[in-house]
Amino acid sequence: MYRLLVISTILALVLTACGGRPASGSEITAPVILTSTTFLADITRNIAGDRVQVESLLPVGADPHSYQPVPKDVAKINESKVLIVNGLEYEHFLEALLENAGGEHVIVTASDGLEPHTMEDEENASQLVSDPHMWLDPNRVITYVENIREGLTHFDPDGAAIYKSNTDAYIAQLKNLDAWITEQVSQITPEKRLLATNHEALGYFSERYSFTIIGAVIPNISSDASTSAGQMAELIDLIKSSGVPAILLDEVENPELAQQIADETGVRVITDLHLESLTDGPPAATYIDMLKHNVTQIVNALR
Ligand SMILES: [Zn+2]
Repeated sequence: MYRLLVISTILALVLTACGGRPASGSEITAPVILTSTTFLADITRNIAGDRVQVESLLPVGADPHSYQPVPKDVAKINESKVLIVNGLEYEHFLEALLENAGGEHVIVTASDGLEPHTMEDEENASQLVSDPHMWLDPNRVITYVENIREGLTHFDPDGAAIYKSNTDAYIAQLKNLDAWITEQVSQITPEKRLLATNHEALGYFSERYSFTIIGAVIPNISSDASTSAGQMAELIDLIKSSGVPAILLDEVENPELAQQIADETGVRVITDLHLESLTDGPPAATYIDMLKHNVTQIVNALR
């Protein structure tokens, strides 16, 4: 009996010593690490293991480009210890939220240190905007993982060894994913590696796996931008002259314009890519599943 008591006391001490977890029982369900999006939450969970709780600010199926914050987002930010974001203006909704939340927040920018693709701003050509979609290249996500590991370790130094070994294991999985994608896309001959999308989301993916982007229904890095009749006509010409067989859309995007273009050009519209959000269960329950699903859809459409 005496021995059992000693063991349980030590366990209790170890539990309270696990930095980061709130000590009081009533707060234990509060999210500790908050990420902006669902795919960042999955990536972070792979590094954190069960040492800290990880939650996504945006729900499954929300498009970050057009996201409108709700009042409870401020509470979520205030309850969290660390906020992990993609960066490169992807979280355009965040500034107002942080202002409303007040106080100081530790923010980890997953894309820190990576060189972004830039393009001219639609409304102001003298201004350059950065393409935020780096997560669609798993090779760049290795840097995300390192940045997130560093952020978690700073917040919870006692977990350093666990975060390091989880990070190493996950990076190995990302390298396998990268090799798998390379092998899958090799089924498409180089001259058929052409992409037409709804908005310009696949720039980094194309660079990594040698695709050429023909154009986008909304020629912008945000799905929340608009398109002109002239831009539509231009894309129709490009689709006809290139022979690209399909327009690829995220499930959260409005397929109306893409369907109009498809009707004029005779190409297919694929509407179930997952570029900006995971899904509840298959086909994109995790970041790795999300990329595998997209690559399978792309290969099937272009092969
Ligand atoms: Zn996007």
